[in-house]
Amino acid sequence: MSERERSGLDGERRRAGAARPRVGVVGAGPAGLAAALALTRAGCAVALLDARPLPAPGAPLPEEGRTVALLQPSIELLDRLGIWRELAAESAPLRALRLVSLPRDGAEPEADVTFEAAEIGLPEFGRNVRIGRLRALLLDALREAGAELVDDAAVEDVVRERDRLLIVHGRGTLRADLVVAADGRRSPVRRALRITASERPTGRVAIGTSFTHTRPHGNVSIELHRPGGAFTMVPLPGDRSSLVWVEPEAEAKRLLGLTDAGFRAELERRVRPWLGEVGEIDRRDGYPLVGSLADRLVAPRAALLGEAAHALSPVGAQGLNTSLRDVAVLAERVERARDRGIPPWSAEVLLAYERARLADIRARFAVTEGLAAAVASDLAPVRLARTLGLRLLGALPALKQQVMRGLMRPMALPLPLPLP
Ligand SMILES: Cc1cc2nc3c(=O)[nH]c(=O)nc-3n(C[C@H](O)[C@H](O)[C@H](O)COP(=O)(O)OP(=O)(O)OC[C@H]3O[C@@H](n4cnc5c(N)ncnc54)[C@H](O)[C@@H]3O)c2cc1C
Repeated sequence: MSERERSGLDGERRRAGAARPRVGVVGAGPAGLAAALALTRAGCAVALLDARPLPAPGAPLPEEGRTVALLQPSIELLDRLGIWRELAAESAPLRALRLVSLPRDGAEPEADVTFEAAEIGLPEFGRNVRIGRLRALLLDALREAGAELVDDAAVEDVVRERDRLLIVHGRGTLRADLVVAADGRRSPVRRALRITASERPTGRVAIGTSFTHTRPHGNVSIELHRPGGAFTMVPLPGDRSSLVWVEPEAEAKRLLGLTDAGFRAELERRVRPWLGEVGEIDRRDGYPLVGSLADRLVAPRAALLGEAAHALSPVGAQGLNTSLRDVAVLAERVERARDRGIPPWSAEVLLAYERARLADIRARFAVTEGLAAAVASDLAPVRLARTLGLRLLGALPALKQQVMRGLMRPMALPLPLPLP
């Protein structure tokens, strides 16, 4: 028997002997659901709490028109969690990413560069999936794995007891060895843990919807960089694409308030050069874009992940992908601790999680905030820099490959990183 097999067997014995750690995960968004499932699989007794009601088994979640582009590392995690096969069947592969710099809507491109996944030896960068389906499949798997679900239970406080944390919620209390905060950008749990976060309101809103079109997308995601914000069309199965359309608040409000015919006219004007005529349009929703970054990822017996730790701009599809990386690392640290007979809530384990994630999160935050500001700017020097930057990427294959790899794998910028 090899050394590795022997230590794996020892770990299994130790895990079987130790009581299952009780973990309270707060927030049933995609990050919290994935964390709850990964920690259940890592041998924890998980209770998942959410302020909103969760649907009964088999009932659908309220549908959101929005989709998320998941990159390969996220797909690998969902595959390990056993939900990827079903999701894959309803998703569209993203084989290329086309970035186009426009001086204004409808004008001739100043730069137009296509990044092919094949250039870095991959068949695709990832897949675009409906966020409602992702949550529904995670929730089904969690029920099947036997996790406790406590819905309609807004967490109001987290109180430190001698050897546990007490979660105080709208329907009572729950004691846990470890609390995982995945309760979104405003995170009441983060506040209760006294972890500070910096917020960056951008004054912009993303309009999310999906639509059918007459010209095939060819599995190419198209991101138009134009004054006001990015206009991104991401392939879905068939001749359908999802849309993330960023505008300053007042313009987004106007667009969201238009009649269906009025909205169609505005959409079609921008879409026609790229995907032809617009057919059926899904419901449209507005998402105010506020960047947020927590100063720490851990407190005694507690860890933050997902938007509770970092809310990123949608540019470059990094938000949930970064959160799923948090999930993978935390679950791995917990599992490793259990194998070594160390309590997963110990400072050693939590600090190792923070060390493993903080640099990547800060780097991604800085890069996406900077990019989003540059994309939306109408200042001539910024626009020129953006256009020249894109052209440079197009001309230098080695640099282009480096950028593509950076999109997919953890970033390793040195700390401390100057934030924008
Ligand atoms: C327009 C747009 C496009 C995007 N596109 C992409 C993309 O292509 N790829 C990508 O990777 N990311 C993308 N993102 C980012 C991604 O969608 C988000 O990061 C992700 O949905 C956030 O998930 P979360 O679970 O962290 O938070 P949330 O979804 O906000 O979930 C938080 C949960 O916590 C619960 N909660 C809140 N307060 C309490 C409380 N007090 N007690 C109990 N529960 C509570 C809420 O009810 C909610 O269920 C996009 C974002 C936007 C806005």
